[in-house]
Amino acid sequence: MPEQNVFQKIIAGEIPADIVYEDSKCLAFHDIAPQAPTHILVIPRKPIRSVADLEDEDGPLIAHLWSVIRMVADRVGLRNGYRVVVNCGSDGGQEVDHLHYHLLGGRALKWPPG
Ligand code: AMP
Repeated sequence: MPEQNVFQKIIAGEIPADIVYEDSKCLAFHDIAPQAPTHILVIPRKPIRSVADLEDEDGPLIAHLWSVIRMVADRVGLRNGYRVVVNCGSDGGQEVDHLHYHLLGGRALKWPPG
């Protein structure tokens, strides 16, 4: 059996995470190396490697993840706005091969990204 990546281990409860929200379809937890005052990762429990691996049937799950992103942003008080980032593949800077949304906020973020 292939080695599980870090997010799969968090989903399985094998390593700890600072979880801010969870339900039957997803988890939201603080990034271990925050790039902004608020940096939360929202991930599906379903093992999807990246945006490039999404299938049409994942539409309802993706809609749910966006609704969780909005709810978590509100819950942690990101009243002035925020940024949601999804890195895809090596050129996109993806390091963990499990679909995840970065929710960043708590300061004015620069644009464009590097
Ligand atoms: P990406 O580069 O888009 O694949 O982002 C992976 C993110 O996972 C990075 O921002 C890491 O800091 C974060 N990360 C890695 N390990 C952990 C962990 N154990 N708990 C929380 N966040 C993590």
